[in-house]
Amino acid sequence: MSALLESYVAGHWFRAEDEGEAVLDATTGEEVARISSRGVDLRAMVEHARTTGGPAVRRMTFHERAGLLKALAKHLGQLKDEFYALSLRTGATQRDSMIDIDGGIGTVFSYASKGTRELPNDTIVLDGAVEGLGRGGTFVGQHVYTSRPGVAVQINAFNFPVWGMLEKLAPAFLAGLPSIVKPASQTAYLTEAVVRRIIESEILPEGSLQLLCGSAGTLLDELGEQDSVAFTGSAHTAEILRNHPSVLHRGVRLGVEADSLNCSILGPDVTTDAPEFDLFVKGVVAEMTVKAGQKCTAIRRAIVPEAMADPVIEAISARLAKVVVGNPADESVRMGALASVGQREEVRKAIEALRNSADIVYGDPERVDVVGADAERGAFISPVLLRAHPGASEPHDVEPFGPVSTVLTYASTDEAIALAARGKGSLVASVVTHDPEVARTVTLGLAPWHGRILVLDRHDAAEAATAGGHGSPLPVLVHGGPGRAGGGEELGGIRGVLHHLQRTAVQASPDMLTAITGRWTTGSQRSVDDVHPFRKSLRDLRIGDSIVSEPRPVTLADIDRFAELTGDTFYAHTDPEAAAANPLFGGIVAHGYLVVSLAAGLFVDPDPGPVLANFGVDNLRFLTPVKADDTIRVTLTVKQITPRSSADYGEVRWDAVVTNQDDAPVATYDVLTLVAKTWDDQGH
Ligand code: NDP
Repeated sequence: MSALLESYVAGHWFRAEDEGEAVLDATTGEEVARISSRGVDLRAMVEHARTTGGPAVRRMTFHERAGLLKALAKHLGQLKDEFYALSLRTGATQRDSMIDIDGGIGTVFSYASKGTRELPNDTIVLDGAVEGLGRGGTFVGQHVYTSRPGVAVQINAFNFPVWGMLEKLAPAFLAGLPSIVKPASQTAYLTEAVVRRIIESEILPEGSLQLLCGSAGTLLDELGEQDSVAFTGSAHTAEILRNHPSVLHRGVRLGVEADSLNCSILGPDVTTDAPEFDLFVKGVVAEMTVKAGQKCTAIRRAIVPEAMADPVIEAISARLAKVVVGNPADESVRMGALASVGQREEVRKAIEALRNSADIVYGDPERVDVVGADAERGAFISPVLLRAHPGASEPHDVEPFGPVSTVLTYASTDEAIALAARGKGSLVASVVTHDPEVARTVTLGLAPWHGRILVLDRHDAAEAATAGGHGSPLPVLVHGGPGRAGGGEELGGIRGVLHHLQRTAVQASPDMLTAITGRWTTGSQRSVDDVHPFRKSLRDLRIGDSIVSEPRPVTLADIDRFAELTGDTFYAHTDPEAAAANPLFGGIVAHGYLVVSLAAGLFVDPDPGPVLANFGVDNLRFLTPVKADDTIRVTLTVKQITPRSSADYGEVRWDAVVTNQDDAPVATYDVLTLVAKTWDDQGH
């Protein structure tokens, strides 16, 4: 008997109390492992996550968490060979494993990098601008995101044992949540191997990752208001989870990614000799055969103009005929096995259902030539292409989770959109067209029904293919879809992190808001002392440190010189008559960039010091025109300090306000600089 998979529970590897169920190799039918969760203390697991893992993660800033994710991704990258070998047993070819294993590790890298670049080095995220709530400026509001003291339960599907775990774990970890991962039993041995390596590495704090192998049992009963469940799998299980008392009555957040009858639409403009025709055909074939079609994003419906049905079917069939099916370890094999013979039965049943309103035009669900394996013991099946009858309904309802797609026809783009919508909400659609009008009409028609839309033509095809094409969720883009696809949203860069956080509107005085958020708020106290803030390193610099410059007149000569120097001779700066006729200015005004440049001259401390560079400005607005002989001054205030953990410097965001002789704001903006962590007169 093979080894029983263990669960990682409250700091220990736990062996179930029974012998468990056999999990079989998809290619050979041999037993790979046994699995059971009998005896796992689920309450202890949740408690451990809440009391040990969660606090340990939340003690760290977003940047520190991102740093650990980067270390984790690097570590897993060194162990890939082991995972690839095990992945073969799931029926995955080398290419399939790459999507799962490299795709998963790449997702962790992406979150590590986004976390460092787009989140603060803090434990609070600010959402949007400060809202004034009173006329006097003493009462303001700010939306903030904070971490929830709960646990993120992740219930994954069998098709991506590595990516499925990592794409949920990375954003949850960044959000400060401990995870309990429950892989699908069929391929849990690969997830277990990866989790074992993660735990051994001790990179993540104890309790931030636990593993439940086998049935979820009563895990959801243990969850409450601060907890969440992210589920990928069948609509049937999703339904059970949606009706769970913890979700219905105790406020557990449930994210679902379930069945999805994704489509690809061939534009009415595409002829058989256009490059887009080949792109469409290749896309459908790739999505049918990668992972043997066991992808939530696979193209189940190929929607084409009536006149194109025959050539499309012919071209897809010709390509499918070249797909070698068999043992994924064999280099000639393009398509491996389904995850189990049970899944093959499910796919055959789905094809039978589809045949109520469609005919098979390629492949035989009962027969397939197989290389290097036994066609019956392994979960092999031929790719199957169907052609729908007019008015067919099954292709919009039945999800064959295998290498199966159905060609449907349309008479107008409106009909194409209506057919796509009959999927009742999908993860992804492709629109293959070289006509910008078709692209806009179809994309806008499909968008309410889809989480992602790939618009494919000759110009983006090469890079789109490198990025994985139709079927590849990308960490920086949203994955999830409305309606039948589950209504959930994962990934999407930092959006995927924010989903896990709680958004709260905080109402307070500017000083209180500065103290709470760690970001200086307009209207709160400034601190002015004898030392110019440009002479202070991060060690000494404080939020609210300010400098108020001397006043400076802006003369007509300044404006003329600036126009001449820059070549910006726009009439409002150079032609008194034309400028006088301008309804906004009524006369010559200074260039906005002149005002900003003069302001820099007013606030700068020129000598070598801890300020290393200016890397931009944010939110620049010119509010009041500066006329010749107006006088300006600038107030510069430290707004936010973000030390970089990987460098000797950090980012300092300065609030800049330029005012005129009447104290009216002329320009407001944030100046972004890099400032050394330490500095002495010797430049250290
Ligand atoms: P399931 O919904 O049965 O399983 C998905 C996950 O949910 C597994 O981890 C499973 O664990 C777990 N699970 C099952 N029942 C419960 C429950 N009552 N409470 C908590 N967790 C539960 O889907 P399968 O993976 O078996 O796939 C079945 C079909 O679902 C596929 O053939 C396909 O049609 C569809 N599917 C769709 C996907 C999509 O994203 N569109 C992805 C994957 C599947 P265990 O494995 O231990 O039962």
